[in-house]
Amino acid sequence: MTIELPMAQQELAFQVLSNPEPMPIERRQAVLDEPVFGTVFTDHMVDICWSEKGGWHRPRVQPYGPIPLDPAAAVLHYGQEIFEGMKAYRHADGSIWTFRPEENALRMQRSAARMAMPQLPVEYFLQSLKELIAVDGQWVPSAPETSLYIRPFMFAKEAFLGVRPAKKVAFYVIASPVGPYFGGEAKPVSIWLSTNFTRAGRGGTGAAKTGGNYAASLLAQSEASENGCQQVLFLDSVEGKFLEELGGMNIVLVYRDGTLVTPKSDTILSGITRDSVLSLASERGHTVERRAVSIDEWREGDASGEIVEAFACGTAATVVPIGQLKTPDFTIGSPDAPAGELTMSLRQELVDIQYGRIPDVHQWMVRLDS
Ligand SMILES: *Cc1c(COP(=O)(O)O)cnc(C)c1O
Repeated sequence: MTIELPMAQQELAFQVLSNPEPMPIERRQAVLDEPVFGTVFTDHMVDICWSEKGGWHRPRVQPYGPIPLDPAAAVLHYGQEIFEGMKAYRHADGSIWTFRPEENALRMQRSAARMAMPQLPVEYFLQSLKELIAVDGQWVPSAPETSLYIRPFMFAKEAFLGVRPAKKVAFYVIASPVGPYFGGEAKPVSIWLSTNFTRAGRGGTGAAKTGGNYAASLLAQSEASENGCQQVLFLDSVEGKFLEELGGMNIVLVYRDGTLVTPKSDTILSGITRDSVLSLASERGHTVERRAVSIDEWREGDASGEIVEAFACGTAATVVPIGQLKTPDFTIGSPDAPAGELTMSLRQELVDIQYGRIPDVHQWMVRLDS
């Protein structure tokens, strides 16, 4: 599928500055053979400037490297920053594709609006991905379950310590080859219920993909680790009763009758993986409910056998079965609980679409290397 640019929206004329010292091919291949999440980055990055006066300007592809930043840059003081996360997948014929990128572009616009930042036009966002792949396409790995993680981000660059929306912003795209997020097979994870901390409050920034939400989640994430869990689950901040989401993934519960239930709230990030998986489930005839779901409902549903599976989902880890929920007061499941059947079959269908192994009837995939 090619993306038609509306007549009015000009394509950006990117200046391409090639990296004079790209990683040697043998070293790159060693990285691609065993990628470790978010540790090694490709040879180039995209960089577009925005200013109140000049709008979006100076689009560039340049060598990956440090960003010159004034110590007074607003992002370093007030955290005015947003980001996205997506992946490029290599199909069997060598072509390179990404999954529902317009959704990421639109979500970045919504995040920008909430964080009082300028909105990057969807066309520029998509073009940025293609520009990066045009120079760094060789970095998309081809081994099973590997991909190139793409991280677009935007931050307040203006050097000014007064508190107001910045008048200068930078947009970047970097990329890193990745393997399975939790390593190895999709083994069930243990999650920790945070009862001391919340990640987002009513009217806050919970629905925006902004670094501050992650900063707020780290202490709870440490608590999770101390309790032997890989991830943390947050409850709503008003009543401390309703499921919200994990630090960086949405949550879905599966009921005995095949119904899938996921929290509905203004304070969680609306995941594209969750939306896609729930679409697949509903096309299979499953009922999908987006509604408030309390921790008591999960606890009682687990005890009665009414709730039979739980999974987390997000781009980085795709669909991850939840084997156990630990809380200060009680535990649901066990660390060696088997992965849920529906969970794994939805995961399989999703990754088969992403890797081009089954027909893409939804036209979710967008080709990046042509
Ligand atoms: C990115 C993110 C998700 C998952 O979104 P996807 O579009 O599925 O990758 C879920 N929760 C939070 C807090 C996130 O930042």
